[in-house]
Amino acid sequence: MESAKQIWETALGELQIQVSKANYTTWLKNSQGISYQENVFVVGVPSAFVAEWLTKSLHSLVSKTLAQIIGGDVDVQFTVHNQNQLTNGSLAYANQPDGGISTKAKIDRFNPKYTFANFIVGDCNRLAYAATIEVAENPGHSYNPLFIYSSTGQGKTHLLHAIGHRAISNGLKVAYTSAEQFTNEFVLAIKQGQVEDFRARLRTVHIFLFDDIQFISDKKQTQQCFLQTFNDLYNNNRQIIITADRPPKDMALLSNKLKSRLEWGLVTPIQPPDFESRLSILRAKAKETMITITDEVLQLLAKQIRENVRQLEGALIYLTARTKLTGMELTLQTVNKLLTSTADKQGSEVIMQVVADYFNLTVEELTGKRRDRKTALARQIVMYLMREEDNCSFAEIGKRLGNRNHATIVHGYEKIAAEMSVNSKLYHQILGIKGKIDLSKASREKY
Ligand code: ADP
Ligand code: MG
Repeated sequence: MESAKQIWETALGELQIQVSKANYTTWLKNSQGISYQENVFVVGVPSAFVAEWLTKSLHSLVSKTLAQIIGGDVDVQFTVHNQNQLTNGSLAYANQPDGGISTKAKIDRFNPKYTFANFIVGDCNRLAYAATIEVAENPGHSYNPLFIYSSTGQGKTHLLHAIGHRAISNGLKVAYTSAEQFTNEFVLAIKQGQVEDFRARLRTVHIFLFDDIQFISDKKQTQQCFLQTFNDLYNNNRQIIITADRPPKDMALLSNKLKSRLEWGLVTPIQPPDFESRLSILRAKAKETMITITDEVLQLLAKQIRENVRQLEGALIYLTARTKLTGMELTLQTVNKLLTSTADKQGSEVIMQVVADYFNLTVEELTGKRRDRKTALARQIVMYLMREEDNCSFAEIGKRLGNRNHATIVHGYEKIAAEMSVNSKLYHQILGIKGKIDLSKASREKY
């Protein structure tokens, strides 16, 4: 049996002939065969966006190509696998082609969907939107730093990526990093004695995008490094844009010095979307996903789902998946039925029902002994969601899931948690399932 690596090399040879040069270079060139087991072929790619793009656009071609080489059906999965994990800097750099760090350009790290054009503006986010456009066009010359805060799912990361796209098209050097990634790279730089290099690399950008700063609020050394980077950039008139889940003054653990820096420029919130904004977002997203859904139904959803944009997206994904599965039309009546189908249930019962529905299984099958892949995956998703959404203990989850032992539950939970961040198909499925869970919560509140 040839190794996954060799099989993939052969497949790449074939694919190179079949796709355009640009597509090959952008999406396939830096991939590698990771494993091939039980008809599942795993391909490692450098980033989540590449994985998502390949899943969406080349999945069937890649499956066909691999099937021919292997001589049988094969399920292809793309997963993030960084060959030189962090060592040559995995912050997202991008700049004009002739710039100094073009070899590190990782333009694909900006999600192609997160653009200014795709961002829907309403009263809830108008100021943040205007400010980000302003700093993207005039970096270093208006608000510096720009600090945007909101609860989760309201478009902060979307706006940062939009700035990234705009900066690139204006020929500027830009770096995006989540606070978590920054921390990891910083820790690695310490280990390798390369903190100076790490800082020097960041100093060269025109725009520095720093996502979810609350993550470093309890990390003193990382904060210190961030503060130095901040000063380096600020003193050179480079633009800094930071997001967080709350305003600087509410970050109790952040050092006072850093807190005051964060307030030097403009601090602006994104509010949860009002009804009108929710409706426009739903209309736009429905159009984007090409799902046929009447305005009446969208209004119903906008009325029911109030918290954030991610939930609105989740609900649409769920409805699309259901329509595909059952062939039903999304009328007011059917959607209402979907909304209320779990209204008499609470917490983990809702989770089990929704996951079962999503995979076209029954709750009994979930709690029972079936061991096929689909049921096993659905069961693990239940474990994950009961823990995350319903705060259940592992023992409790085991009990509800047909008296399974607690080690099985821990394993299932950890597997999903780890895989979610790198497997975009799974991430998408869970987003849809959460969408429905949110819908049932919303409809319960109404009754
Ligand atoms: P946050 O970073 O605040 O948690 P994200 O930027 O990840 O939120 O947004 C969650 C999802 O909602 C993304 O898919 C994003 O594209 C979408 N989204 C959020 N706000 C808007 C908006 N105003 N218009 C269009 N899509 C939005
Ligand atoms: Mg975010």
